[in-house]
Formats: sequence, C-alpha cells, structure tokens
Amino acid sequence: MAVYATAMTDPASRIDWEFETLERCPLCQNGRFTEVFDGDIRAVPLTFVRCAWCSLIFQNPRLSRRALEQYFSSRTFIEDSSASDYDLERPLGYHDYADWDASYKATASLRLKRIMRHKPAPARLLEIGTATGSFLDVARGFGYTVRGIDVSTLFADMARRKYGLDIDSHFIEDAPLPPAAYDIVCNFGGISCWRDPVRALRNIRQSLAPDGIFVINFSDVDGPIGRLYGRRYPEFNHASLSVFSSATIARTLEAAGFRMIFSETERQYASIGRIVTYLKSPIGRWLANRLRLEKVTIPVVAVGTVFAACVPADGQPTTPSPLDNA
Ligand SMILES: [Zn+2]
Repeated sequence: MAVYATAMTDPASRIDWEFETLERCPLCQNGRFTEVFDGDIRAVPLTFVRCAWCSLIFQNPRLSRRALEQYFSSRTFIEDSSASDYDLERPLGYHDYADWDASYKATASLRLKRIMRHKPAPARLLEIGTATGSFLDVARGFGYTVRGIDVSTLFADMARRKYGLDIDSHFIEDAPLPPAAYDIVCNFGGISCWRDPVRALRNIRQSLAPDGIFVINFSDVDGPIGRLYGRRYPEFNHASLSVFSSATIARTLEAAGFRMIFSETERQYASIGRIVTYLKSPIGRWLANRLRLEKVTIPVVAVGTVFAACVPADGQPTTPSPLDNA
C-alpha cells in the first residue's frame, strides 16, 4: 500500500483526507481492476474499481486507516447537514444521524424478532458498528446481555452517555475479541466500511460460540436501487470501502469460513426524511419539509438490502487474506 496524498483538510471537522492505494483486491488478491466510478464529492476525490477476477467493487485509492479514524469520529460523518457546503446530491456523511433515532429503535425491534427465531434471549450479543446505541438498548430490553464496538469515538461516546452501554472503539479486523464469547454477533450496514472484510469476519468467527450466529445486512449493488441509480448509487461514498453484491458477499463469507443459513429482503422503519435523503431526492425533501412529514416513520421493505444470518462453516477458510502477514 502506498500513501500518496495528504491534501484537502476540512477545518470544521479536521479530517486529513489522506489516501492509500491498494495494489491487490482485498478479497482475492488479484492485481487487475477496471474503474467503475471516478469523481469527487465536494472536492474530495472518490474512485471505485472492480476486481477482474472476483468482481468485488472496492474504493481505490481509499482513505488511509488514520484518515478513516478521523472521518468516522467527525461531525462531517455523523451530521453532514451542518456543513456550510452541504449538498444532498454529494454527501460526505449522514444527513443528521441522531435526528432519526426513533426509527432506528423501531427497526431494532424488527431485527431482534428475526434474531430471536434463531437465538432467543438470554444470550450474549455483540454489535459491531453501534452508532448511537439504539439497537443495543432495545436488545438489552429483549433480555440479551449486550456489548458493542464502534470505530467512531464520537458515536461510542454518544451511546455511552445516552444509554450507559459498554462500547469499545477498535477497527474490527484487530479488535481484541475474546474467543467463543458470543452467541450472536451482528452488524447492520457496516461490512462495506471494513478495511479487510475477510480478516474482520475471521476475528468475529473465532469470537462466536460453536453454535453462535452472525447476523448482517448489506446493500446489493446488483439490486434495483443499484441498477436504477448507476453512478448516483448512494453506496458510492467515502465510508464504503467495498460495494458488495450478493455474489461478492457470498465469496467473502465463504473465504472467512461462514455459511449463510437465512436471507431475505431487509425490513425497516424509516422516517420519510431519511428515505428521501437516501434516495437523493430534492423534490421529496422539499415536499417532506413542506408537509411536515420529515419525522413521520413508516415501515418499508428496503429493496436491494439483504438481511442474512450465518453460521461458522465446517472446514478451513479457503482464501488467504492480504493483511494476514502485514
Ligand atoms: Zn478480487
């Protein structure tokens, strides 16, 4: 990896937009890629390539580890709408994550009802990417013993203060997870942000009890939103280091020694403001504002987002991970 640029600095959030270049695909280590997205978001460069061998789409160059630590802990990432140059079409982070906490809690209940079918409480549950802590707070109410990890120190502080939760800040690839300690590990919308998904998943797998489950959701670039939006696909952003499809997520899980036992389209509760913001619709935002519907929360079938449960597969992982020897 080569760090080749330390360029623009956002004075409001003090992010050094420092990039590193990957010479090889993070999933299969092939060195040949084709460019699928090249541009910038508010002057910060953004490029995605597709691996010629395994088809994984990944950001390259991408933010360095140090830049990611700053970025995920910045106000830009959590409340981009407060920036003076905020642009709905060209977001550098969440519009205002905390503003939609009520809808996250309703979604948490939906997810927990699905999880309970596989692993009822009481059980030990770890969430990776806890954000404001709303899911863990609801999970605790369902009778689970909960703990969390979020690389964002700002999010971790918010969750501790708001809900008194135990949250550690680590990159999941090298988080010191105790072996065989959890019955459930879950991650919602986070695997695309991991620097080395295979290494991260192996770390999770060793921390699961032998009959534990790993629960995940991800946006499928081959789904309807990806096909409809093309280059405007919302997952083409600086936080997404990989943009998965059903095929590439299956390869990634297999490489880490996981087997999917259940999958279906994600169901969520979302505020109308959040939906029109995600879909980058200025007219929708104007209408939602005008009709005071911004915070009205409705159940939605999240077309193109997959909710899945996985278990450790028999046998050994099949693909070596590029950072294993780093
Ligand atoms: Zn590849």
